[in-house]
Amino acid sequence: MYYEIALDLPKANFDFYAGGGFLKPTTTADKKEAPSIFPIIEEAGYTIAKGIDDFKVKSTQADKMILIQKDGANPSCLPYSIDRKDGDMTLAEITESAVSFLTKGKNKGFFLMVEGGKIDWACHSNDPATVFEEVIDMDNAIKVAYEFYKKHPKETLIVVTADHETGGLGLGTGKYELHLKALKNQKQSQDLLSTAITDLRKAKGHNVTWEDAKALLVEKMGFWKELPLTWEQEKMLRDEFEQSFVKNKVVFEETLYSKTEPLAATARKVMSQIAMIGWTSGSHTAEYVPVYAVGAGSKEFAGKYDNTEIPKRIAKVAGYK
Ligand SMILES: [Zn+2]
Repeated sequence: MYYEIALDLPKANFDFYAGGGFLKPTTTADKKEAPSIFPIIEEAGYTIAKGIDDFKVKSTQADKMILIQKDGANPSCLPYSIDRKDGDMTLAEITESAVSFLTKGKNKGFFLMVEGGKIDWACHSNDPATVFEEVIDMDNAIKVAYEFYKKHPKETLIVVTADHETGGLGLGTGKYELHLKALKNQKQSQDLLSTAITDLRKAKGHNVTWEDAKALLVEKMGFWKELPLTWEQEKMLRDEFEQSFVKNKVVFEETLYSKTEPLAATARKVMSQIAMIGWTSGSHTAEYVPVYAVGAGSKEFAGKYDNTEIPKRIAKVAGYK
């Protein structure tokens, strides 16, 4: 219901929205053509900015704002932090834009919700390096909020939490060891590694050799070169290569947000093994999540409680009715 949800933005009437973009700007949930969402939103009093530079130009004049990525970017989401290219919009930039927009002029205070939404996606894929980069990205966004807090410590509350854990991620799979630095050798998300493997198949057809596949894994994951593999790990990759490229039995691994070449999925599993990261699920788990809070009313957030308490406590502290 991308189209219908887009229509809800002006109805909800918040001052500022930001995100990847509009995925189905002219198509309803029942696949009917509909009037473009863009003029509808503009007629409701919103200025649409495409990218941070455009936001900076339009921000002072705008009454209400929707900030999305530039034309040509994948509108479904921001790219994974690990896959980011120069000029891609970041969560920290969005947070900075939101704070500057919501504090211009009126000074009546504001509520802002920022989600590092693809931590969840990467966890659904059990893709360890991508998860870590997404968490760092979220941390950079929190730093922006924290800078604001430092300027207005008595009036600002920051609450950082998650709506759930995903993947059942465990640190240390035995031997009291953890090799997180190994993750630095992964150059791209599993999604892009998968695309690179598909491209290799398209380019060379049935003539892809183990050496070709190996070269790709050296380049993208640092296997063999920076990260020595055990005999068993090499066998896992070799067996999957045989299946995918010799027997040509390619069964894509499907998780909630990705479809993955099986060789890329195996590479990701090997990377988790090397880093000594364990996964217990491809879905959401019932793990407890931390709630960090700083600033005005932050003491309200101590203790163990149901997640539905969080908005109630924020409302109480902020004096919202
Ligand atoms: Zn999820």
